[in-house]
Amino acid sequence: MIKIIKNGDVYAPEHLGIKDILIIGDKVGCIGDAIEFDVRGYVPLEVIDAKGKYVFPGFIDGHVHLTGGGGEGGFRSRTPEISLSSLIKGGVTSVIGCLGTDCVTRSPESLYAKAKGLEEEGISTYILTGAYRIPMTNLTGSPMKDMILVDKAVGAGEIALSDHRSSQPNLDEVKRLAADIRVGGILSGKAGVLNIHLGDGPAGLQMLREIIATTEIPYSQFLPTHINRNEQLFEEGVEYAKAGGFIDLTCSDPAFGEAGDITASAGLKRCLERGVPPQRITFTSDGQGSLPIFNENKECMRMGVGQISALFAAVRAAVREEGIGIEHALSVITRNPAEIYKLKGKGRIAVSFDADVVLVDRSTLEIDTVLAKGRTLMSGKRVLVTGTFEA
Ligand SMILES: [Zn+2]
Repeated sequence: MIKIIKNGDVYAPEHLGIKDILIIGDKVGCIGDAIEFDVRGYVPLEVIDAKGKYVFPGFIDGHVHLTGGGGEGGFRSRTPEISLSSLIKGGVTSVIGCLGTDCVTRSPESLYAKAKGLEEEGISTYILTGAYRIPMTNLTGSPMKDMILVDKAVGAGEIALSDHRSSQPNLDEVKRLAADIRVGGILSGKAGVLNIHLGDGPAGLQMLREIIATTEIPYSQFLPTHINRNEQLFEEGVEYAKAGGFIDLTCSDPAFGEAGDITASAGLKRCLERGVPPQRITFTSDGQGSLPIFNENKECMRMGVGQISALFAAVRAAVREEGIGIEHALSVITRNPAEIYKLKGKGRIAVSFDADVVLVDRSTLEIDTVLAKGRTLMSGKRVLVTGTFEA
């Protein structure tokens, strides 16, 4: 199948202007002006009119509880598995799945199977091995073996630090795990990133700073998340990123409760103003995690579920409300996570990269069309491909 996306305003995520994109099978064949390609009668050719639309790389959500999360309010608060259509509606064509607090009723085996299923259904998937705790739950007998032998594993986590739900690991335990994941990544040509869940505890990022100061393990081995959960941690995160670290801001849809004191969009603005290099920042949705919904008196009324739609909503808010340029706002869910996790062929619109593309209305910044590996999953704001058990 050959497709041409015509006359879109392309952000790759760098701005290329009005361009045509030729898609051959599941890859981008070329990008140019007024591409004509006449193969009618030989292979099917589809022309997608992108006039009045932005053309973005497919979004990458680097922290999603694919098999569900939560459970912290008892068994009934365990959140459900994710559906393919919720990822598609959010423009997410690549997702990294993880486990959280619960590594007893949730397992890396079921996470792996869910990721394989979503891949069969049409998007690209990866996993983090492990969960909150050290010693780390794993698939093959050791974290390093997981990194080397499990193709989908691009890192480990989310390992909880500075949180009342963490396993309270000591410095040496975290150091050893980071070393194992790093070496496993080196031996398998993968990033081997340790995704660190940070809670409200006063220790904040102290352990990571100590490991970096006292070992040869570089900043690039760690991606601490939920940095925007409170003011103190956010400030610490800004300094950590300025010193060389990478940080992840959790997005939240206001309708489903707040994941942090500082919205991801406002956090991005502050990071850029404070001189954090833009390539060191990512956004993730924490999708399918549990989100307590509070009333105006801060009383928990009920539990909600983290929404994938929050990811691009935060980018939209960064552009429209914070006045951040599209390239910088878009990079946090495209090029940056692809480079940090070394996701081959992902995160950019470029020749020979995977044909993961999202068309967005220029006037409303609403997602209109989603292509994953060259296949149209959503068109005219209508989802065309649903998961196996979705209606
Ligand atoms: Zn978390």
